[in-house]
Amino acid sequence: MAITYPVRFRSCAPQTRPLRFKSRSARRRLPTPHLQLVIDAVGDGLWDWNVQTGAVWFSPRWQTMLGFEPGEVEPHVRFWETRVHPGDWAKVQAAVQAHFDGLTPAYECEHRVRAKNGDWLWMLDRGRVVAWDKAGKPLRMIGTHTDITARKQAEAELRESRLQLNAILDNAPVGVVLVDDDRRILRANEAIAKIFLCPLEGLIGASSRLIYGDDAIYEDIGRRAYPVLEAGGIFDEETMMRRSDGADIRCRLIGRSVRSGDPALGFIWVIEDVTVRRRAEQALSDRAGFQRVLLDTAPVPIFVQDVLGHYVDANSAFERWMGLDRQSLFGKTVFDLAPPDLATIDEAADRALLADQQPQSYETQLRCADGTLRDVLFSKAVYCRVGGKPAGIVGALMDISERKHAEQALLERQQLFEQIFVSSCAIKLLVDPESGRIVDANPAAAAFYGYPLDRLRDLRISDINTLSEQEIAQEMRNAKTERRKHFQFRHRLASGVVRDVEVYSSKVVVHGRLLLLSLVHDITERCRAEEGLQRKTRELERSNAELEAFAYVASHDLRQPLRVINSYLTLLERSLGDDLDAEAKECVDFARDGAQRMDRLIVDLLEYSRVGRKAKAFRPVDLSEAADLALLNLEVAIQDAGARVTVAGDLPTVAGDDNELMRLFQNLIGNAVKYRAPDRAPVVRVTAAPHPEGWRIEVRDNGIGISFDDRERVFGIFQRLHRRDEYEGTGVGLAVCKKIVEHHGGRIWVEEPPKDDLPGGSLFCLTLPALTMGQSPQERSVVRGADRP
Ligand code: ADP
Repeated sequence: MAITYPVRFRSCAPQTRPLRFKSRSARRRLPTPHLQLVIDAVGDGLWDWNVQTGAVWFSPRWQTMLGFEPGEVEPHVRFWETRVHPGDWAKVQAAVQAHFDGLTPAYECEHRVRAKNGDWLWMLDRGRVVAWDKAGKPLRMIGTHTDITARKQAEAELRESRLQLNAILDNAPVGVVLVDDDRRILRANEAIAKIFLCPLEGLIGASSRLIYGDDAIYEDIGRRAYPVLEAGGIFDEETMMRRSDGADIRCRLIGRSVRSGDPALGFIWVIEDVTVRRRAEQALSDRAGFQRVLLDTAPVPIFVQDVLGHYVDANSAFERWMGLDRQSLFGKTVFDLAPPDLATIDEAADRALLADQQPQSYETQLRCADGTLRDVLFSKAVYCRVGGKPAGIVGALMDISERKHAEQALLERQQLFEQIFVSSCAIKLLVDPESGRIVDANPAAAAFYGYPLDRLRDLRISDINTLSEQEIAQEMRNAKTERRKHFQFRHRLASGVVRDVEVYSSKVVVHGRLLLLSLVHDITERCRAEEGLQRKTRELERSNAELEAFAYVASHDLRQPLRVINSYLTLLERSLGDDLDAEAKECVDFARDGAQRMDRLIVDLLEYSRVGRKAKAFRPVDLSEAADLALLNLEVAIQDAGARVTVAGDLPTVAGDDNELMRLFQNLIGNAVKYRAPDRAPVVRVTAAPHPEGWRIEVRDNGIGISFDDRERVFGIFQRLHRRDEYEGTGVGLAVCKKIVEHHGGRIWVEEPPKDDLPGGSLFCLTLPALTMGQSPQERSVVRGADRP
């Protein structure tokens, strides 16, 4: 649409337009060829418009700016009008009109113009009316066209980037503040308002001191940060700041200058409120510490595995139990701790656990650091990450080795008991003490009683025990007083036969029930044998006593005729006097000798029969005293033989008959002196030493000794190893010794003498029971053989 400038401008032109402006500027701004050159040189187009006719002179540069060849453009205002962007046309018109109306000293408008190729170019169109008619109508207007497309684009881009920047800043989760050289806040984003809980208006223009709670911190940060920022560096630190409501918050501050080395442009501070995050981190770290302490205080060994089965953590109890520190455990798997077959099972269990996430408990074995394989009970559960993905396995273990061993031992004991009970050939009954019912019996019992096992298990103990209740009670009392562990009963078999039995009963607990386990010994034969033995013993004792009495009486009575023979031989000798020839005298001597020898034999026999016969109550007898008395009796013989007899000073005191014990020493020492070797003076030593049977007494000499084969024989009555003309004697002495020692509860024998300082000789050894300590003198007076006749 063409503009009819003269009409319109005319009608619109204000009448109050200052005339001085019109004439002076028209005169001054005439485009001269020289000016055209200048304008072309700066790249602007030039136009000269005859407002009245509409003719326009467009400079060549004006035309080429739009992509036309010089001369190609129609030199009329129409051309320009058709090229102006329709959207800008109103603005252009208004600007021209304002100038025509004298409202503006010059026309100036930025608008788009369509170039030859159709592109829209931005032009800064500036002009001025240089000629007016008298009525104040514009006649001629001259102006320039400046291509501002590039600037416009830059401006658009700048605007866009500003918008983007604003959008970023306003939506940024962190606060951003721009401060000037004096640390005054020039700009701040929405996040800052949120962090410090104050409207932006309250911050802009204020000193940044406002958002530091503490002046000292403000000063400190300023002192340290700004030299860094001014040098182009970045300052990054956490510090305490203060919200508008007075709450202290922890913020991370990252600062830098807007342009390095140009403090005038200010400084950008990015402020992040890390209070909650730090608290969360602190809480997390507190929780980790708490969990560590909790884990390490727990007495139960606990471990953690990742999803691949690697141990990643363990508590102190686990370390102690395994005997290794957790660092060396990390990265290991169960294959490093358990036998391969068990590790395979464990790995499969872990896979199943990770799949169904149901807590598991199962028994397995682990090897400790010292190599011992322990039975353990595992309790395992999966722990998950946020979102539910399994992160690993937490396991606790209980060492059940002891329990396992106990179970195994119990099982073995049960099996053993069953074997002992069932398969042993001893007769066994399991009896309920309450009811007397036979709860169980073994096959040996069934065989003994002659009942099938089922039938036997139906019986009561009273069905087989023939004793009355009173008799049973009495037997139990007897057993108690006699401190017997068994009872003697009489059991009836299925066949009706009654057998003597010895029953050993002990309490057993079977499945919590108290029962009596009875071991039944059939002692019928033994009882019979014992009865026979007792009978024989009684008979023997009777005949022995008779024999002893006979021997005593006989030997006592025999001495009387011997004394008569002796007296008569003496009488005969005396009455015959010298009439007795040598031969008759020799006969008389033989007869006397025989009678005397017979007397000695009878005396010895008497002595032998007396040992233990009229026994006195045993009393403590100091053997040293007994030996001393014996030596006194032997004094002459010892002196005659030039013997040296030593009796050890530590002979014990024993319970016994002092006469018999003196006799014992007298016979032994007497023999030692009598059976001396012809080439050396006799030496006799009497010693004593403790012995398992009490005391061991030794009588050692250096005499002719006794050959190995005769060592038992010498204790037989009338047993002699030598002729009478070699050594005097009757062969009763050692038999008496044996009888005395046995009467005192000991033994006597001959041993090979040791090879020591005494050459050859004999060694007689005997034992005597020790006097029991703690016995009262009365108790010590043990009566041995007092019941004998
Ligand atoms: P007696 O001495 O009266 O012959 P004993 O019964 O005392 O009878 O001894 C039996 C025998 O044992 C003796 O004849 C003697 O041969 C042998 N005898 C006993 N004591 C000794 C001894 N100390 N040394 C060697 N022989 C001995």
